[in-house]
Amino acid sequence: MLEILQERKLQVFEKGVDEYAIECGKASAAGSVSQRACVFCGSRVVLYPVADAIHLVHGPIGCAAYTWDIRGSMSSGVELHRLSFSTDIQENEVIYGGEKKLYASLMELIEEYKPAAAFVYCTCIIGLIGDDVDAVCARVEREVGIPVIAVHSEGFKGTKKDGYRAACEALFKLLDKDNESPISPYAINIMGEFNLAGETWLIKDYYQKMGVEIATCFTGDGRVSEIGRAHRAKLNVVQCAGSMTYLAKMMQEKYGIPFIRVSYFGIEDMSKALYDVAEFFNNETIMSRTQNLVRSEVSKLLPELEEYKKDLAGRKAAIYVGGSFKAFSLVKALRHLGMETVVVGSQTGSPEDYDYLKEITNEGTIICDDSNPLELSRFILEKGADILIGGVKERPIAYKMGIGFCDHNHERKIALAGFSGMLNFAKEVHATVTSPVWKFSPARIKAKTEKNPNT
Ligand code: SF4
Repeated sequence: MLEILQERKLQVFEKGVDEYAIECGKASAAGSVSQRACVFCGSRVVLYPVADAIHLVHGPIGCAAYTWDIRGSMSSGVELHRLSFSTDIQENEVIYGGEKKLYASLMELIEEYKPAAAFVYCTCIIGLIGDDVDAVCARVEREVGIPVIAVHSEGFKGTKKDGYRAACEALFKLLDKDNESPISPYAINIMGEFNLAGETWLIKDYYQKMGVEIATCFTGDGRVSEIGRAHRAKLNVVQCAGSMTYLAKMMQEKYGIPFIRVSYFGIEDMSKALYDVAEFFNNETIMSRTQNLVRSEVSKLLPELEEYKKDLAGRKAAIYVGGSFKAFSLVKALRHLGMETVVVGSQTGSPEDYDYLKEITNEGTIICDDSNPLELSRFILEKGADILIGGVKERPIAYKMGIGFCDHNHERKIALAGFSGMLNFAKEVHATVTSPVWKFSPARIKAKTEKNPNT
């Protein structure tokens, strides 16, 4: 029987069993060993794909462990984002302040790498010792003539969501720099698409086939100069709503650019992301190109999915991801493979997100906010999931439980967005769920023995 910490009881809901009143958006309960990362990590995942900027972590070297090499964000050219820089704050700076070291580090890095901008990430210790990072950044900016932006992402000051907000505030400072370059009346900004395994290129290609221009992609394969023209686009198209809605709202307020929320995962949501943009522009040519594109992609894809569905039908899945929008798409995508979602949760979902998850899942599904490894393991056992879909921190949970795992987070190297991504997803899920290796897993053997003591 699962024991849930008293403080977390309202963050877990079983459809058809509990009265619905899920709590979310609050600090993680002490002792829960949350799967969430810190504020700094939230900022870093959002800003990191800006490939022609340097990303300097102002703090002890340990914070700099969140590097490109645990992420799959690709660039079509310059790759400064793959280099990890840290001011390596030590005892001396903790006592006497780290501003001098920060200034020297910035000057040296800018001289060496000639970046288009620099982001300086404030970590916990910087918040504690009180370095005036804004003043140092302003001084360097004046002296070298490129944007040098302090990202106020001190790890202790909230949840990962506060890191997203700090990243949005940093990006906002790069807007409105280019009012000259030509731009189409059908230009959009893509937001919350991080070019993992080249997914931004795939999505850009769909929109371009429809006749829509991408003014900029925040921040996949990002360039500082492109962000500088984003304020002239007609529409912001927001994926990963948890991280980017804040920036979309700021742009709506200042520049009058409306925004829509989309997801590029699964057949329905990918198609809807294209149709919603076509409808926004209310242009017959764009709409007819969209219809042709979707028809052609879906008619190729469906027969191929049928092959995987034969083995996957009736299997059960657990999902635990950063933002809930991805979870919505995964529940639907798994249905296309004949699979049922029995556990679904996220690190940063909002009340509206959980309302929607409740609506689209079956009776008996466990919905959880800001879960921990113990809970997830128990939910997987209780509900008999055959696969856990999550990120790098969830992988060991799946393997210890002796079930399949699909990496759907920033670390992955396989494109799962778009129509071709749906096929890759089916292949990944199929390969892991049907792998013969699980029959040798101690957890599976134990579960089987407990069920049938005479075998
Ligand atoms: S919690 Fe603080 S010390 Fe830890 S990684 Fe985040 S910023 Fe660094």
